Amino acid sequence: MFENLSERLERSFKILKGQGKITEINVAESLKDVRRALIEADVNYKVAKTFIDDVKVKAVGTEVLTAVNPSQMIVKIVHDELAALMGGKAVEINLKDSPSIILVAGLQGSGKTTFSGKLANMLKKKGRGVMLIAGDIYRPAAIDQLKILGEQIGVEVYSEPENKNAVQLVENGIKYAKSKGTNTIIVDTAGRLAIDEQMMQEITAIKRAISPSETLFVVDSMTGQDAVNTAKEFNDKLDFDGVVLTKLDGDTRGGAAISIRAVVNKPLKFVSNGEKMEALDVFHPERMADRILG
Ligand code: GDP
Repeated sequence: MFENLSERLERSFKILKGQGKITEINVAESLKDVRRALIEADVNYKVAKTFIDDVKVKAVGTEVLTAVNPSQMIVKIVHDELAALMGGKAVEINLKDSPSIILVAGLQGSGKTTFSGKLANMLKKKGRGVMLIAGDIYRPAAIDQLKILGEQIGVEVYSEPENKNAVQLVENGIKYAKSKGTNTIIVDTAGRLAIDEQMMQEITAIKRAISPSETLFVVDSMTGQDAVNTAKEFNDKLDFDGVVLTKLDGDTRGGAAISIRAVVNKPLKFVSNGEKMEALDVFHPERMADRILG
């Protein structure tokens, strides 16, 4: 779907070979190409522009060693700057032993419930005692879905299908989990098709009541520019700690990762790559830069 940006860059910088130094004129044209490719990969227009300006400053004046291919050098600068823009290195989630409460939020269909199951699975494999709480009081199907996942991975799911008070339900679940000696509690919450005031009030009330050690915002990478707007609205209300980017097994380039990081300034922590419980990775900026460059 996308032309390989690395190759495109190398092609446009070939003329630089043997010229000694990279000049402003050399880079301007080719970096336009990079900007276009970033926007095609769903990177926000303004973010792409700032990025290109930064790369230009880094690239202009760089000595082109005769032994080194200058196009590869620019590709490396672009790659390293992309990774830096996404935080540079992987950021772990905050875990405690007393116990750790992880709140999972996002729009309906973003992949919240699937992610909650995957995270439970990952942490259980690391030897933690995990319990899931089904906090969606609106959709009985969401409770069933989490229960099925819980059975698959051998993690207990707390639910109260009759309770219509989400805050109370989650508090009850935490009390229950603590009574069982669980040290990791993952709270899956209700999502909506679009952000609405009631939903935001509910999730902020839950957060206030339970003081989670980690609040994660789950977003579908296929939603492109909308992902950034949604992230911003959730962050304004919820002040989350990290972002989970889902459905990266699709044909999206993942440029939303760059825009989200730049706009909300919160680290991306996980990427979800499929429907299987094992399809979850810690977010690595370097790997994402590789993916965006193609
Ligand atoms: P929720 O409404 O936010 O809880 O979203 P769900 O967890 O129910 O996910 C919505 C749909 O997306 C389901 O059909 C999931 O199987 C699917 N899904 C979730 N995560 C991924 C992913 O990483 N890759 C793919 N391909 N599908 C996913």
